[in-house]
Amino acid sequence: RNKNINAKLVLLGDVGAGKSSLVLRFVKGQFVDFQESTIGAAFFSQTLAVNDATIKFEIWDTAGQERYHSLAPMYYRGAAAAVVVYDTTNQASFACAKKWVTELQEQGNTNIVMALAGNKSDLLDSRKVTAEEAQVYAQENGLFFMETSAKTAQNVNEIFHEIAKRLPRAQPPQNPS
Ligand code: GDP
Repeated sequence: RNKNINAKLVLLGDVGAGKSSLVLRFVKGQFVDFQESTIGAAFFSQTLAVNDATIKFEIWDTAGQERYHSLAPMYYRGAAAAVVVYDTTNQASFACAKKWVTELQEQGNTNIVMALAGNKSDLLDSRKVTAEEAQVYAQENGLFFMETSAKTAQNVNEIFHEIAKRLPRAQPPQNPS
């Protein structure tokens, strides 16, 4: 029988990297050019079916502004998964993403599934972070990496799907004997 799994997922990354846009694309299939900044954090829920299970993502989209940094542990504590987002056209956002990865490694769940999203892959002419350097970094730090575009939808469903596949499955219930 199909398992139902609830998974708390947090998005972390610099302001402007595209966290809210990725969530909007994944949950509603939409994109807006002038996405309003998230204040504090916003909650969304979305269900995704994979081969052996139905995953209900409980998604926390965090603000990213430094003044909200102290709130972040509330959202990543107990999280089964994290998507760390940077903007491929902005080196500083990649440095910021690395800081979030380090913080998650030090303070997050031991078995947290971490994805690195290099977003705005549609902006080819403004690219500042190569896929190669991000891939090397991800490999060295136990994340999986995809370049995404909330605008064109490239790899948006795919990244959540990959997380769903990697989430630990609960032990099957033991038969009382
Ligand atoms: P957040 O602060 O990380 O939540 O970033 P937002 O989702 O608010 O996005 C910041 C800006 O980048 C907005 O103007 C978005 O429309 C734009 N944006 C987000 N994702 C993409 C993308 O994949 N491609 C392009 N071209 N623009 C994007």
